Amino acid sequence: MRGVRGVHGGGVAGGRGGGTGRAAARRAAGAAALAAVLAALGSGCDKPAAHGGTHAERSADPVSGEHATERPSAATWAKWGLKPMRPAPPPPVVKPLKLPAKSARVFSNVPTKDRVVFVTIDDGQEKDPRFVEMLRDLKVPVSMFLTDQSILNDYGYFKPIRDLGDHVQNHTLTHPQMTTLGLEGQRQQICGDQKVLTRHYGTAPILFRPPFGSWNSLTQQAAASCGVHGIVLWKASMQIHDMQYDDPGKKLYPGDVLLAHFRGPDALKGESMTRMFAHMLKHIRSRGFAVARLEDYVQPPARPR
Ligand SMILES: [Zn+2]
Repeated sequence: MRGVRGVHGGGVAGGRGGGTGRAAARRAAGAAALAAVLAALGSGCDKPAAHGGTHAERSADPVSGEHATERPSAATWAKWGLKPMRPAPPPPVVKPLKLPAKSARVFSNVPTKDRVVFVTIDDGQEKDPRFVEMLRDLKVPVSMFLTDQSILNDYGYFKPIRDLGDHVQNHTLTHPQMTTLGLEGQRQQICGDQKVLTRHYGTAPILFRPPFGSWNSLTQQAAASCGVHGIVLWKASMQIHDMQYDDPGKKLYPGDVLLAHFRGPDALKGESMTRMFAHMLKHIRSRGFAVARLEDYVQPPARPR
């Protein structure tokens, strides 16, 4: 069985960035648009720049209604048995969680006052086409932490999800408990997955999720040496119908990272991935939160020249 433990709730220090000036916003939008174009060129993505720049552009220019019309209708939500969820606010112009250049920062919450949580989905075993349709319909952002062993029979499944603007992140080659490995063993797991994911999805992951939430200082060292400077744990994990919390009060807080898995009926007592995800969204909605994109809140270190 895979990680459902809510342990290692790594604390997060770090302040919220300021500077929401219009000039800064425009600069950020320009940089994001350029990055999107470069990413599209580099990845051979079949829908160039369709998604990478949209959120930053929207945050920079709230009067542009182009993307507001993309919000799913009540009928679309109803198709999945859901009531409309509040969309996330525009992403912060300055990303509040900074990753260090020389180590890897461990976190399970992002410092923000936005009433948002982040959905992360692990492993990649289940490949339900209906789930792709659901994400396309509802436009709920997710971050995928993929294990090579779970996805190598069909790397292609995750590409349409990536094309929605969702990021692929690192979750090792074979899903070992990292603390049983030495530095070199941990490096092989992280650098190996990094290589595979970069090759198939066109962008190098910036975040790592240790299997079972189990990590030590060697994990931080190994991750950083593979070019990954954030280790993402979680505050609550989605089971079949309910959420399992770290917090004894069973509350969600702004910036909490939530965990789910690519799991199907075999692992969910007959429930489908889409039903599990619908339960998760209902839960988030009932707590008054919107789902934002984790990568919009996390600043990777500048690349050394
Ligand atoms: Zn896992």
